[in-house]
Amino acid sequence: MLIKMARWLRIMGIDVIVPQVEDDDQIFEIARSTGRILLTRDKELSLRRGIKAERIISDTLKAQLRQFLLAFEGIEGMMHGSRCPLCNGVLNVVSIDDLDTEMAHRIPERVLDHNSRFYVCQCGKIYWEGTHWSRINVFLSEIGVTPELPSH
Ligand SMILES: [Zn+2]
Repeated sequence: MLIKMARWLRIMGIDVIVPQVEDDDQIFEIARSTGRILLTRDKELSLRRGIKAERIISDTLKAQLRQFLLAFEGIEGMMHGSRCPLCNGVLNVVSIDDLDTEMAHRIPERVLDHNSRFYVCQCGKIYWEGTHWSRINVFLSEIGVTPELPSH
């Protein structure tokens, strides 16, 4: 499974779905009908006609992401903080003044003290530019991605 890779692509802002089906024909059909690029470890599946597919061979996350970036150079919409790594939802940027009480209660106080901007997902997850965020940016620059923040 390429779940970890999928999550990292979402961190980079790329729209990634993980089909909840096992059958190759079903997976193929999802890629075909939605016009999505199929990332797979399966050689046979990656060679089928009618879809854009990339066979991922490496077990290392960095190598996987580098392969993706090389194969789909110039892919648009890459932006750290625009998409939820867990559910693929588009994140809403919310300033601290616009946080509702319920959301504010779910954020640790020291985080509220040090951040003025939050990234809220429809699934309920809230992200902010903390140490984890910085580590992600370091990782992204190591694979050649310049992290960008959503401007809205
Ligand atoms: Zn989410």
